[in-house]
Amino acid sequence: MTIKLAKRWAPFGTSIFTEMTQLANAHEAVNLAQGFPDFSGPQEVLEQVAHETRSCHNQYAPAVGESSLRHAVSALVEQQTGIEYCPNEEVTITTGATEAIYSVVNAFVNPGDRVVVFEPCYDSYAQAIANAGGVLVPVRLHAPDTPVGISARGWGIDWNEFHAAVVGGFSLMILNTPHNPTGKIFTQNELETICNAVKEHDAVLMCDEVYEYLVYQNTSEVRSPVALPGMRERVVRISSAAKTFGFTGFKVGWATAPAPLSRAVRLVHQGIVFCTNPATQRGLATMISDTAWTSAYVKSLPDVYGAKQQYLEESLVRAGFRVQTAQGSYFLMACYDSHVQGAVVRDVDFAKRLIQQARVAAIPPSVFYYGSEAPRRMNWLRFAFCKTDLTLQLAAERLEEWAQSDGPRV
Ligand code: PMP
Ligand code: GLN
Repeated sequence: MTIKLAKRWAPFGTSIFTEMTQLANAHEAVNLAQGFPDFSGPQEVLEQVAHETRSCHNQYAPAVGESSLRHAVSALVEQQTGIEYCPNEEVTITTGATEAIYSVVNAFVNPGDRVVVFEPCYDSYAQAIANAGGVLVPVRLHAPDTPVGISARGWGIDWNEFHAAVVGGFSLMILNTPHNPTGKIFTQNELETICNAVKEHDAVLMCDEVYEYLVYQNTSEVRSPVALPGMRERVVRISSAAKTFGFTGFKVGWATAPAPLSRAVRLVHQGIVFCTNPATQRGLATMISDTAWTSAYVKSLPDVYGAKQQYLEESLVRAGFRVQTAQGSYFLMACYDSHVQGAVVRDVDFAKRLIQQARVAAIPPSVFYYGSEAPRRMNWLRFAFCKTDLTLQLAAERLEEWAQSDGPRV
């Protein structure tokens, strides 16, 4: 039999996360590629989930999510954004943020519709848009020019490029802040211009805020675009227990949006997975509803992850990289210009050699360009710092040793 993959899936292969993790495992490399904590999320959550697994019926949950979790998420989102969402009509529990992304894109994009996305971008966006038959319209984020050492400047937008991209209209825009892979937090001014374009074109904004609590010093407060004037009615905001509670394996996420948008998202969600598992939802609900516990927990995240970032940054600099500090998320970008003496070496090739030679894995960000060619000179790698101190220490030792050996053989 000839297998004919549907054409819309032809541009995609195995995800870079799987590819790099497999390569890392094959070389016994430290995996700073795939973004998952190599330590457990809070014990209290695990205990509640275990308790619910034993005591709840473990049959289908309500399609829109367990009522207790919808109420808990509504309160959590209100605390973070100042915006109220009705737990019954405006909060939908999804199978991770990934499924929320699919549901939102497929709810609002018709074949041929333009979808504006900031590139480099998380891979699920491009796949969901392709699946809906939409056209990804890219807006480039430009790397800061950092001469040496560590820089805290975020990636920037060229507003002429932005306006040229949006002028043809669009039905959906996708914004991810804090941003994967660059660690950028969109500033208030940037958000205002972006939101004005969304309103002007009467479009929907999907705002992926899964890293909402991973925000570091020297950055302005993360402001969700949903809090800007006139935006509540047109934003679907996505977040997830994967990042907030450090359980990427739970696959529990949520989408909050006004009722008419939520109805559309729920229809697609129902068609994709119908529901997500009840025990995990209920266990999470118990802990999120303990507002004293939750607010102390989320407040602790910047210090915990910030210290990890600082440690990795310093060791990358000692190993000859220059580093662009993540303003948010658990990814930092490191430039390897000095290792290639200014030559252009594809980041995919450099990442593979780093695994083979230094036994440390990172993600080559050129794979996050879907609507346009990655810049020719893409001498950056994305390193995940959501790892134990021991893991980071091992990575640091290996990188420094590699840099000092006969010099990188790239
Ligand atoms: N959005 C972004 C920006 C991500 O980095 C990720 C990956 N963790 C997701 C969504 C997917 O989240 P989840 O694991 O909850 O599906
Ligand atoms: N979001 C994670 C990352 O960017 C990985 C998600 C996945 O493996 N699909 O590394």
